Parts: sequence; structure tokens; C-alpha cells
Amino acid sequence: MDPAPIREWLRTTAQLIDQEKDRLTELDSAIGDGDHGVNMQRGFTAVARFLQEDRPQDETAGQLLVATGDTLISTIGGASGPLFGSSFRALGKALDRSGPESDDRRLAAALAAARDSIQRLGAARPGDKTMYDAYGPAADAFARAAEAGDGLAASARAAAAAADEGARATEPMQARRGRASYLGLRSVGHQDPGAASTALVFRALATALEAK
Ligand code: ADP
Ligand code: MG
Repeated sequence: MDPAPIREWLRTTAQLIDQEKDRLTELDSAIGDGDHGVNMQRGFTAVARFLQEDRPQDETAGQLLVATGDTLISTIGGASGPLFGSSFRALGKALDRSGPESDDRRLAAALAAARDSIQRLGAARPGDKTMYDAYGPAADAFARAAEAGDGLAASARAAAAAADEGARATEPMQARRGRASYLGLRSVGHQDPGAASTALVFRALATALEAK
């Protein structure tokens, strides 16, 4: 896959996280320790910075995404750092592997690998009120649309809508993973911050692939 739209995706994500940092912090203040917005901004600011450098080692789309994952792991911190970081690493590795023919099917397979890496690392199940509740439906929606032949931009739009819906659906859930789970029933009634930031990542993907 051409690395240009992937660069655009990462830049757009950094912008969106910047804009929405306070909302992410508010969500994490309600059911966590209030650092999620700052964590994500620190991570994606570091990614935006390395994108500006001319790094010969990041030539392919996959290499860029693996480098993004490494950067996020070393800068975000918290529970979400390793989870987001490993998801981007898995994406990158899968994207450079030879496999499905078209870009949309390749990206669908890579997003499924990223979803699985979040699940493996965090051991969350659907309904546990985590980022997985946004990532899972988004990866699935992308794959369904790509399989139907809708193409990259429409598949990304479908994924963004599913991620948004998945994030909103975490509001009535009781957290069973991560810091929010310590609150028990008091975690009900607030959207999960990691699910909200996952929705931003997919909104950025739709924007970047639309612009292509
Ligand atoms: P911390 O909880 O360490 O302060 P953050 O505030 O940056 O880290 O991130 C919190 C988010 O991480 C949660 O909203 C949730 O989406 C995600 N998260 C935490 N634990 C898990 C897990 N086991 N599996 C999936 N996601 C998780
Ligand atoms: Mg936190």
C-alpha cells in the first residue's frame, strides 16, 4: 500500500487527538485517573514529529505503522500505550506481508490483526467497556465493506461509523477491565475514554482515505 495515505492518517489522528484532548481527559476523570487525553496527545505528538523527519527506514506503509507503534509504546504510558502501540505494530506487520490483492482487503486483514493484538494483550471481551468495544466493530465493519467491494474510502467510513457507535455503546456498560473496573457499578453512565479515542483514530482514517 502507498505510504502517503497512511502518513495522512497518522497526521490527521494527531490533529484530532489534539482537538479532543480535553474531552478524553474528562471521560478518564469520570471513570479513571484523568490522564488519557494527555497520554494520547503525548503519543501522537511524538508520531507527528517523527513523520516530519525524513527517515529512510520508514519507506513502506507497514514500516511507518510499526514505527508508530514503537513510538506510542514508549510515549503514551498507562494501560492504553501498550494496547494502542501493539495495535499499530500489528497493523504494520500485516500490511507489509504479501497477501490479499487489493489495498482495501489488505487493510481489512491488517485491521483484524490489530484488533486481535488488542484482545490478546488486554484480554478484554466485547462488553467489558474498553477500546476493544470500538475497535472490534470498526475492524469488522471495514472487512464487511471491503469484502462487498465498496473500496477503501467507503470501507473506512463504515469503520468510523461503527467505532463511533461502539464507543457510544460503552456508556451504559460496567467496566470489567482496566482501571475503570475498580469502580464497579459506578463506571456505568460514562463513555470509555479508550473507546472514544479509538473512534477518533477511525474518524481520521476515513478523513485521510477520503482525501486521497
Ligand atoms: P490508564 O488506565 O493506565 O490510566 P489510559 O487512561 O491512558 O491508561 O487508558 C485507559 C483506557 O485503556 C481505557 O479507557 C480502556 O479503553 C483501555 N484499557 C484499559 N485496560 C484495558 C484492557 N485490559 N483491554 C483493553 N483496553 C483496556
Ligand atoms: Mg487513565
